[in-house]
Amino acid sequence: MAEKRDYYEVLGVPRDAGADEIKKAYRKLAVKFHPDKNPGDHTAEDKFKELGEAYEALSDPDKRAAYDRYGHAAFQNGGSGRAGGGFHDPMDIFSQIFGGGFDEFFGGGGTRRKGSGKQRGSDLRYDLEITLEEASTGVEKELEIERYVPCDSCGAKGTKGSGGVKACTTCGGRGVVARQAGIFIQQTTCPECRGAGETISDPCNSCRGEGRVQRESRIKLRIPAGVDTGTRLRSSGNGDAGVRGGSAGDLYVFLHVKDHDVFERDDADLFCEVPLPFSTAALGGELKVPTLDGQSSIKIPPGTQGGTVFRLREKGMPGLSNSRRGDLNVRVQVEVPTKLSSEQQEKLRAFSESIGDHNSPMQEGFLQKAKRFFDL
Ligand SMILES: [Zn+2]
Ligand SMILES: [Zn+2]
Repeated sequence: MAEKRDYYEVLGVPRDAGADEIKKAYRKLAVKFHPDKNPGDHTAEDKFKELGEAYEALSDPDKRAAYDRYGHAAFQNGGSGRAGGGFHDPMDIFSQIFGGGFDEFFGGGGTRRKGSGKQRGSDLRYDLEITLEEASTGVEKELEIERYVPCDSCGAKGTKGSGGVKACTTCGGRGVVARQAGIFIQQTTCPECRGAGETISDPCNSCRGEGRVQRESRIKLRIPAGVDTGTRLRSSGNGDAGVRGGSAGDLYVFLHVKDHDVFERDDADLFCEVPLPFSTAALGGELKVPTLDGQSSIKIPPGTQGGTVFRLREKGMPGLSNSRRGDLNVRVQVEVPTKLSSEQQEKLRAFSESIGDHNSPMQEGFLQKAKRFFDL
């Protein structure tokens, strides 16, 4: 069993190095020893793992403090002595860094300040259904959400008096405990203080020491024009309040636009079908059509066939990211009357006789193609 190297030595930084210096040293060495650059080189692979482990410890203020105090023992509960007992697959660490998720990946525990007991509140999700009209104009909504808000009784401190806050003895104020899981050391939230790093001897009666209480609260939300199903909005700081004055989480609103009776939507374009009387289709005329802004009309040229699509420019949905509005596409459906008086039937028969087989361009084309089916 090889002796574990000092983490500062691994990264080649002095013991009083700042966070930036540690990050820089790590990135430089991670590139140098990355397995992709050193295929088959086991020394480089070991170095890379060692590096990830050292960085994992020294980049987190809490873990670094624990390491400064207890050395490697800070992270070894049962002490497997195995080098490379890091918390993540090294390849994973690498892709995260260069994929831009650097601080997200390593900053997970960094929102809690040591000894303060503060913890960031959770992000919340809210699914909101709106109408197509609301999506078209934008709308202000008031959401009712059950969430944690800061406790008024204790001013979010969690204690009745000013004293009574003590460092948690189970985790030594770190908020996490190390646990052996197979060959890995796993860090879990301290079960005693639930991650706060401290315990309270005179907890506030209203919040039982959490510094926050669950309440039904109303949140106003401005929804911009042009949103669609799948659009997510973030309302910063409107998630759960943090523990004992910690920062609040965010509220994520997932939008669902309800199906519309008349319009179908494809991004910014709208589609609808409008019945067209067959006499208007033949003679031409005006046809009233619905739009999101109200009634409009289109000019039907004589001889319009069923299925013809008329485009009304910029009568669709507004764009969310650009200013161009979509179009409204109106597809006409030629309607055949179902109830005719005997007089009307008579006139239609006379019309049919007068038109004969001529003047039906579609039928002529069809008969040309389908000749053999009709013995012509
Ligand atoms: Zn309270
Ligand atoms: Zn604890």
